[in-house]
Amino acid sequence: MKLPYEKPAIHKLQSGLMNKFGRSPAYARRVREHIEDVPIEDLVGEFGSPLYVYSEREIRRKHREMYSAFSTRYPNVVFGWSYKTNYLQAICGIMHQEGSIAEVVSQMEYEKARAFGIPGDQIIFNGPHKSLEILEKAVTEGATINIDHMDEVYDLEQIADKLGQTIRIGIRLNLDAGIYPQWSRFGFNLESGQAYDAVKRISNGGKLELNGVHCHIGTFVTEPQGYAIQVRKMVAFGYEMEDTFGFSMEYIDIGGGFPSWNRLKSSYLASDIAVPPIDEFAEEATRALTKSLRPGDFPKLILESGRALVDDAGYLVSTLVASKRLPDGTRAYVLDAGVNLLHTANWYKFNIEVDRVVSGINENSVIYGPLCMNIDVLDEGVYLPPLSRGTRLTFSPVGAYNNTQWMQFIEYRPNCVLIGPEGQVDVIREAEDLSDIHRRERLPERLALGQ
Ligand SMILES: *Cc1c(COP(=O)(O)O)cnc(C)c1O
Repeated sequence: MKLPYEKPAIHKLQSGLMNKFGRSPAYARRVREHIEDVPIEDLVGEFGSPLYVYSEREIRRKHREMYSAFSTRYPNVVFGWSYKTNYLQAICGIMHQEGSIAEVVSQMEYEKARAFGIPGDQIIFNGPHKSLEILEKAVTEGATINIDHMDEVYDLEQIADKLGQTIRIGIRLNLDAGIYPQWSRFGFNLESGQAYDAVKRISNGGKLELNGVHCHIGTFVTEPQGYAIQVRKMVAFGYEMEDTFGFSMEYIDIGGGFPSWNRLKSSYLASDIAVPPIDEFAEEATRALTKSLRPGDFPKLILESGRALVDDAGYLVSTLVASKRLPDGTRAYVLDAGVNLLHTANWYKFNIEVDRVVSGINENSVIYGPLCMNIDVLDEGVYLPPLSRGTRLTFSPVGAYNNTQWMQFIEYRPNCVLIGPEGQVDVIREAEDLSDIHRRERLPERLALGQ
């Protein structure tokens, strides 16, 4: 085969990466021909490219590992699966089979959990926007509602009047747990006294009854001590509410935020160095809990982990459709998948694996997708050997927040498949076609062609 002529490019010699910890084996570029023993070529042959692939075994393994880390250290633990992290029904189904109840943050998610068959009393309802309509439904169905702001208190008091009953609620706190930037937009601030004032107002109203405290300190938190600080502050606040207003703290919901094996772009450390094991988080949180609780008091400890349970179980397989050279000499590769499918590429540097052994000099490369937009970059400044058209590139871990935040912009969303424990492969979301794009559109007759 005659190779096309390409003008030579001159590059500074790179003698090594600027990483004093050396290259981590977990993030060395590898060849990946299989996902869970299923050949990638078979997957793409049957289901197309790009393709989302999930490992059921990995999700169950993560769930069991994390549940046992907490439940062996504290007697009363409940997991609420964070729907917004990944609400494909098959994924929720695995989490529910493993024993998680549902944690939702919007009307759509609430309805999704109910449609799946989850009873209201096994739904935790968080989030800053709960319409009056869905709040009333959640109240009558017995959901655990964590209030986010005062306007919600007024709405709930109105519902309490209408239904002629008192309503039990939890309060979402935001607080300084030493994790920055501090998440302060959700719930009531602890240190400023805002949360205290809210509970005082709730108590004076006489229509709502506080029975739990909630707090979610952030996402991809890599400092286990943050959870110890959080728990101590939450328990102290809960007891203050018990002693001052006569409420009882039946649950302490510490949210999610636990990290996966992903790597933040801002981190110079590989994930196996930067990410502590889940046992350390469990140890910090439960030790702080048992130390701060009064003797004989074992309120429910609720966790709403999202990312840590599903991220590592998700892969995106894509295909190299073109290679070119940019004016500055950078090698550029075009893939059939971009930030339309990997929204989280804005913050995370994924592990990228190729489907074959490639020889040749590693070159500074940029990898981008099909979106015709400058922002559509999956990775840049990445050193890759010369890749040829048709090479499959597998991105991981991508199981968290991509299947919920993906967008349809100029492309169809692809198939999502689940590899079961026996190696069976099931489609869990079908690829879209033009009918999906047109289904909700209405064309005024005068604008139809031929009118
Ligand atoms: C998003 C969210 C979670 C899950 O967060 P992760 O970082 O994915 O674990 C849990 N609780 C609340 C209230 C959330 O908004």
